[in-house]
Amino acid sequence: MKRREVKTIALVAHDNKKAEMVNWAMRNKDILSKFNLCGTGTTAKLVADATDLKVKRYKSGPLGGDQQIGAKIAEGKIELVIFFWDPLSAQPHDPDVKALLRIAVVYDIPIATNKASADFVINSTLLKKD
Ligand code: PGA
Repeated sequence: MKRREVKTIALVAHDNKKAEMVNWAMRNKDILSKFNLCGTGTTAKLVADATDLKVKRYKSGPLGGDQQIGAKIAEGKIELVIFFWDPLSAQPHDPDVKALLRIAVVYDIPIATNKASADFVINSTLLKKD
């Protein structure tokens, strides 16, 4: 599979990781502003409010947002995912979380699952947007 140019980035953060996501997005606002952004409902709203960037809102994760993002990956409409999932709390939508991780791997989409990897990905020369 040929790596596609990154145009759209999806942002997802579980409740205990939302503050981390908002801080990360504010810190990387300039880079993020060069891409189309989308995210699960609450994450998208928090990031949009904090950064003033436009972030397309899907449903909240537990209400199907992870599945919507997974479907967009399958359609080739999302090329990168920043997914701060919470490894210390049980999630009601755990199957959806697993499905999102799985579909990102199936389609060979970069998916950063913590702040350190998100920093590496967002500063990658492979992103190529100047
Ligand atoms: P949320 O969904 O951004 O709507 O909270 C994230 C999740 O829990 O998957």
